[in-house]
Amino acid sequence: MEAAPTMIERLRRSPLGADPGEQLDAQSTIRRRHLRRALELIAADPGRCTRASIARDSQFTSATASSLVAELIQLGLVAESAPLASTGGKRATGLALDPDGFVICVVLVRPREVRAALISLDGRCVADAGIPADGPLDAADVAAAVAGATADYTGRILATCIQSPGVTDGRTVVESVLMGWRDEPLAEVVEAAIGAPVFVLNDADGEALNESAFDESRGVQRLFVRLGEGVGGAVTVDGVVVPGAHQRAGEIGHVRIVFDEEAPICKCGAPGCVEAVASLSAMLGEDYHDELDFAEVDALAARPGAAERLDAGAYAIARLLRILAAMLDPHEVVLGGAAPALGEEFLERVRRAFDDNPAKGTGGAGIRFARARSTYERLVGPARHALSSTLGVPLILPAPEGAPEEAASDEAGEPGERAAG
Ligand SMILES: [Zn+2]
Repeated sequence: MEAAPTMIERLRRSPLGADPGEQLDAQSTIRRRHLRRALELIAADPGRCTRASIARDSQFTSATASSLVAELIQLGLVAESAPLASTGGKRATGLALDPDGFVICVVLVRPREVRAALISLDGRCVADAGIPADGPLDAADVAAAVAGATADYTGRILATCIQSPGVTDGRTVVESVLMGWRDEPLAEVVEAAIGAPVFVLNDADGEALNESAFDESRGVQRLFVRLGEGVGGAVTVDGVVVPGAHQRAGEIGHVRIVFDEEAPICKCGAPGCVEAVASLSAMLGEDYHDELDFAEVDALAARPGAAERLDAGAYAIARLLRILAAMLDPHEVVLGGAAPALGEEFLERVRRAFDDNPAKGTGGAGIRFARARSTYERLVGPARHALSSTLGVPLILPAPEGAPEEAASDEAGEPGERAAG
């Protein structure tokens, strides 16, 4: 007897679940467009959207709206919520993305750890596991870690977003100095392991998208710089990352910024790179790594000798920002990664160095830290990206709140102690 199809297999057979770019026959194309529209309206106003409001807002007939909702419920994407307060006639039933059906998987790849979290369609983090690496990782190791961490949700993963250091075309990590990768086929290998579509994002791009998830970002041009073991940048316009002609926009880590004879040698072998002076490893020493929490980073910054390197780093970042801001004239500059752990004093150093020697003709740009302060707050942007890329609609996913219910105690533990769960 054939096994019953999983939720993801059923979805794949519907016009909505087809590859967003796939050519369908005329009837299926129209159905897909209508399903996307209904889904978008439901996601934008969860719990208050009704069959009647869908018909009104999209000018579908009531019968069409009802049939679209029925299909979305049958696919496991939408659920009915409590009846709304009566406005005189029959009480309408509210609709929302199904909180108990599909999940989105968000993966963070680091040299020493693969972290996989699952987000429900109402924005809750339902599972989170950090899997420490034994040695240098490759795509198969990442796939095994993700498959292990998500085993309880097989067939329910709607889409996965992997954030990785390095240059990516969305499928493959073309090049990463930090991971030691060249043409690592992450998406292909992880897709085969978990049976769900995978989208790969550069880690700075992922954080920049996340920053956009906190607001509508309409009309905002933002320069985002991520400080960690590496240094990466991203430009977002209206909340969308500008990829560049070769998907390499924001690869600022190995641009030479120090030209003294004593310029430190970078991991890439060249002297005076941005990463060699302004990465957190350069400023805080080799004890720094990206798996540390903010309190641990703060403790490293308080060690003797750190102040001088933080000063040099702040100066180098300010110099870099001055050139980038002169070119882009952004509304604001946001420092992310673990930079917020360095506190207001560090931010003030960067601002002061930025404001010294102002360049004629350039406008000012406010510099601030990224809003996301916890791992959970960094999940929503990448989760939205995966959800929207899969279903072909810019869906709104609320920010996850706090730790996953069943693994709440894990967050307090050391990164290495978190077990796959
Ligand atoms: Zn370098």
